Amino acid sequence: MPLPTEWDLTLLFDSFDDPRFEASFQRAEALATAMLAAVNGFESGEKAEDPAANLEAGIRMFEELMDPIYRVFSYINLVLATDATNATALACQDRELLLQNQLTQIQSAFCRYVGGLEGLDDLIQGSELLEAHAFLLHEFASQAAHVLPPELEPTVLRMQMNGGQAFSNLRDLLDGTHLVELVRDQETVSLPLSEVRGMAYSPDAAVRKAAYEAELEAYRKIEIPMAACLNAVKGEAQTLSELKGYPSILDETLTGQRTEQATLEALLTAMEESLPDFRRYLRAKARALGHTNGLPFYDLFAPVGAVSRRFTYDEAHTYLVDTLGRFSEKMGAFVDHAFRNRWIDALPRPGKGGGAFCATIPPVRQSRVLSNFEGSFSSVSTLAHELGHAYHGDCLKDAPILLSDYPMPLAETASIFNETLVAHAALADADAKEAIALLDNELLEATQVIVDILSRYRFESAVIEARKTRGLNVAELKEMMLEAQRSSYGDGLDPDVMHPYMWACKGHYYSVDLSFYNWPYAFGLLFGRGVYARYLAEGAAFLPLYDQLLERTGRDSVTGVAASVGIDVNDPAFWRSALDTIRETIDRYEALVDTVNKPV
Ligand SMILES: [Zn+2]
Repeated sequence: MPLPTEWDLTLLFDSFDDPRFEASFQRAEALATAMLAAVNGFESGEKAEDPAANLEAGIRMFEELMDPIYRVFSYINLVLATDATNATALACQDRELLLQNQLTQIQSAFCRYVGGLEGLDDLIQGSELLEAHAFLLHEFASQAAHVLPPELEPTVLRMQMNGGQAFSNLRDLLDGTHLVELVRDQETVSLPLSEVRGMAYSPDAAVRKAAYEAELEAYRKIEIPMAACLNAVKGEAQTLSELKGYPSILDETLTGQRTEQATLEALLTAMEESLPDFRRYLRAKARALGHTNGLPFYDLFAPVGAVSRRFTYDEAHTYLVDTLGRFSEKMGAFVDHAFRNRWIDALPRPGKGGGAFCATIPPVRQSRVLSNFEGSFSSVSTLAHELGHAYHGDCLKDAPILLSDYPMPLAETASIFNETLVAHAALADADAKEAIALLDNELLEATQVIVDILSRYRFESAVIEARKTRGLNVAELKEMMLEAQRSSYGDGLDPDVMHPYMWACKGHYYSVDLSFYNWPYAFGLLFGRGVYARYLAEGAAFLPLYDQLLERTGRDSVTGVAASVGIDVNDPAFWRSALDTIRETIDRYEALVDTVNKPV
């Protein structure tokens, strides 16, 4: 029997007409209203003298509320992922946003209450429920100083829907609907930006160059509204950060990601030290493609070498069950289960969004994976990545629902781990041409996650600093982006062919609530590789430790989770050792490329 290729969402709801959908939505709204009133009354209510009872009630109400919220929100978003214009799902989004605002207010009210209690540790002790949630309660307490004043909060949240959130939506609309004019076969065609950006992977050098030039020209036409969106979002982020009493936006981000300043500094130090290696890779790739002045931006994603192996979806299943099963039987069985039980929406089809993701739905103890499988090794690797996320979710399936969410830096641990496993297995039986392609694929992604991410971090830091006092015009934004690219890519990139519009291209700059959505990717890649190195060193003995590490991500700080497997993320030495594994790949790539390209 062939494998199913579309996911099954009926464990949530049969359809939007399923009466359980409306009932769950209403239940979530009613529970949210009741919980907000209850938490606001904790200090004056009948249990005012028994704060431990209030804390227990708060946790229980949160748990009860999160169940229908996860089900309803997951269903709306998963339907939209395969049916982008589904009118019912789109109509639900405003209602979803209002409920999310209410959730924010509940959390703020609970933080204020927990933060105002004396002797929190004593209150926690003796209650099994509170002891299990001790980490979260302490986090709530420390957030108390950083929530909006209750008299301001509802208004600010509502204004955000028409302020920063609206500008962020406008940015996505511009990006999604703007057409690029491109000459193809002597005819001018109009194509979506995403399609033209995808041409960066074309094997045809002329196509890559023409697409890049057309893309820059297209961004020029929307640069003014894009700059207005960026100024609005960054201005609002600054105002909110000040209102919440954070010393800086970066400080707010780090707190939200449960990460210490020292961790980020150690990571950045090692990243900066590694730049000469990445530049060496970029120049080797430039040589392989016949460039003399460093790599032009449009060839960053150019394919080098060739992976001839193609996979049917059924072959991808066999390959992954076998390859990941060699790491652990449990992992192999898990992957097999996901393939067979309709956890995966595998193939491209009309109305389905691009890319790939994994969504874990804690109340049903399962995940759903979306991919656009097209038979290449790279799409097999993508499946391995997303199934790593699903495995992470599986390790957390017995955790209390409030402890099943983990911060962004730790989110990529299991996915990168799987990707690395599969990449190593593929390299082991590749010939020279295939090896170059596999190594290049690994390195071009690592370059994005280390070098480009560094340029994005530097750009965002500069914009946020300047935006404190005034708005920035298009010319300034372009120059700041070029400066960030020059300082990160150095002589790896051709200085005459960079990308001054990357600030318009990356949607992450346009989120008010999530600034600096860049360094966590670098953290994720290097942490995943560092954990993989631990597995190589320790073998099967590491397996139970690995599962425990993933389970812990929901209830500890980033430093605490890493320390549980003996990793000190505040020490640059750990990051250097992870980057060493990439340097070895660069050495191997350089040697191979220069041998294959040697003139005869
Ligand atoms: Zn991922």
